[in-house]
Amino acid sequence: MDVDQGCRAATSGEAADRLAVSSTLPPMSAAAAAGTGFAARVVAWQKANGRHELPWQQTRDPYHVWLSEIMLQQTQVRSVIPYYQRFRTRFPTLEALAAAPMTSVLEAWAGLGYYARARNLHLCAQTIVRLHGGQFSGDSQINARLPGIGRSTAAAISVFAFGLRAAILDANVRRILARCFALDATPSPAADRRRMWALAEALLPTTDIEAYSQGMMDLGATVCVHRQPACDRCPLASVCRARQQGRQAELPARMPKKPLPERRESVIMLTDGRQVLLERRPASGIWGGLLSLPELAAGSAEALAQRNGCRLLATTELPAIDHRFTHFRLTLAVLRADVQPIGHAACEDRWQWLPLERIAEAALPTPIRRLLLSLRPPGDRSDKAC
Ligand code: SF4
Repeated sequence: MDVDQGCRAATSGEAADRLAVSSTLPPMSAAAAAGTGFAARVVAWQKANGRHELPWQQTRDPYHVWLSEIMLQQTQVRSVIPYYQRFRTRFPTLEALAAAPMTSVLEAWAGLGYYARARNLHLCAQTIVRLHGGQFSGDSQINARLPGIGRSTAAAISVFAFGLRAAILDANVRRILARCFALDATPSPAADRRRMWALAEALLPTTDIEAYSQGMMDLGATVCVHRQPACDRCPLASVCRARQQGRQAELPARMPKKPLPERRESVIMLTDGRQVLLERRPASGIWGGLLSLPELAAGSAEALAQRNGCRLLATTELPAIDHRFTHFRLTLAVLRADVQPIGHAACEDRWQWLPLERIAEAALPTPIRRLLLSLRPPGDRSDKAC
């Protein structure tokens, strides 16, 4: 799924990242930064040049603010907009979301990726209905204890739904702070995160908190981008230490990534040319609750075909699928099994035949979805749900 500019990337409270900044005193203190008019520059820039027309900027409803913040995690704005609008139509209230079956939520999320967000969204809605009378609190510390909501997302809800002062610290904001303050890496990511949070909080203005918070996000998404920041358009250019030192490319520093462990699985793609056999995955674990191809461990191609009312015609090994999860890499060997239907009923509840024309709207893991889309006739392969 899309990652980087324009998205709320994972935050330290939500998923420990590998960004590391100095645990020694930064080259410029927050107080000194305030003297440079840091917040005032961001606020003025946002009002004149920031984004004002995003759909979730037209509301203060905490449900809608929360929904947009979760969708924006690790996903670009342009990808989120249609999902956000469809989600609001399908689940107009937090209560409607809480009451919906998980399969409906996953279907509405299909194609947006990182499905743990959808599962947590559903769980969070149910928790708020059960424990908080269906209402978000303005207190970010209370919201940060809800499923799927970390410190930065909770702060965003406080700022954009309640107009309260709270520090947002997503990857975009961290990138700006690391560059502007020329913060170097240290061996202690935890201490670095604490220092970064303290800096983010110290820089908060006493007024215009929404324009400031939106401005930091807009700057990170459109000006102080990961590669080739547009310093000539930046309102912080005259106070930015990285720019003064010519170190934009090396900041923020990143800890070296450890190689990910690898896992190998085999799956089977049983199809009669009109439908494909899928299996609902267990609620927990990878791709929890999604439909996916049955694991080959479920039986041989011939046995699986027979158990599901089909005669096996031919098998073909397809190119393996490589997929990167946060904590490991998965290589999926895929066996295509062409079958002829006889009875054609899925033999267990967790298995179902999916018509090929419904692949785009089904709640499928992204790499499986991409593979299955290739089954559709040429001219009918656009991913209409994305
Ligand atoms: S001057 Fe350049 S590096 Fe510094 S904050 Fe602005 S865009 Fe980022």
